[in-house]
Amino acid sequence: MIKNTKKTIIAHRGASGYLPEHTLPAKTMAYAMHPDFLEQDLVLSKDDIPIVIHDIYLDNITNVAEKFPNKVRNDNRFYVIDFTYNELLQLNVTERFDVKTDNAIFKNRFPLWKSHFKLHSLQDEIELIQGLNKSTGNNIGIYPEIKDPYFHNKAGKDISRIVLKILSDYGYKTKKDNCILQCFDAIELKRIRIELKSELFLVQLIEFKENEKHLKEYATYADGLGPWYKLILKGKDKQGHWQTTSLVKEAHKLGLVVHAYTFRADDLGVFSSFDELLEIGFNTLKLDGVFTDFPDKAVSFLKNYQLFLAPLPI
Ligand code: CA
Repeated sequence: MIKNTKKTIIAHRGASGYLPEHTLPAKTMAYAMHPDFLEQDLVLSKDDIPIVIHDIYLDNITNVAEKFPNKVRNDNRFYVIDFTYNELLQLNVTERFDVKTDNAIFKNRFPLWKSHFKLHSLQDEIELIQGLNKSTGNNIGIYPEIKDPYFHNKAGKDISRIVLKILSDYGYKTKKDNCILQCFDAIELKRIRIELKSELFLVQLIEFKENEKHLKEYATYADGLGPWYKLILKGKDKQGHWQTTSLVKEAHKLGLVVHAYTFRADDLGVFSSFDELLEIGFNTLKLDGVFTDFPDKAVSFLKNYQLFLAPLPI
């Protein structure tokens, strides 16, 4: 009997392999590629609006240095939290670039400073996704991430409480609703479950080897784990087979699903093709889902993979 063959594809920052990350066009394109979820990284504006943006900084994806030069902090950076929502809307967004060299981080992606892209709020993005769910008849979920709660807290802001209220207002309240909430900060994710009493599906993101020691603790409040895939991949054995750590197996024993990040067709490392990387992810690592900048490629890979897994007709 084939169990649990349903795998999850999460559009990481939208179709970020093709359009500037986290923009509404990148989300719309990702939506049309039929992933299971679209991801939203969240940082609060000065006036407490959750902005869909990966970093607490603005300078590596926008023209903020040119538009608001006086708002730079002593560390030479521009912070989302120092700007009102209306100020943020005045910025132009582009592909991620290196602030020192002004060069694009991913050389073959959408060209820098071309066309017209803007920042937006969590509400704007939920309305886009829910609107598309209505007009297409599909049911694609949201996968918001609370960014740097400690940083927000130092600025007197309770980002989790604000985000949970908005999610609830839009109908995302329990594990039955099509929403997964993720966070790297274990203290905060536990607080979301215990103190803020969220009944949402929660994923504990992890990035370090040491995190593996705390799986049992994570399982007391979270429903899943989000590790960096390189964390669970050891080297090859003498026969050339990839060896893995016990993380996924242990997580599954504890009833946790595992969604690993980040699968990029233009950052293959030692792998010869994106399909090979995905094959290792699903087949060798036994992942339940992947965050990817290229949702179309992962969805297409999975179609063939699911066919392969399907039981033969009797
Ligand atoms: Ca994220």
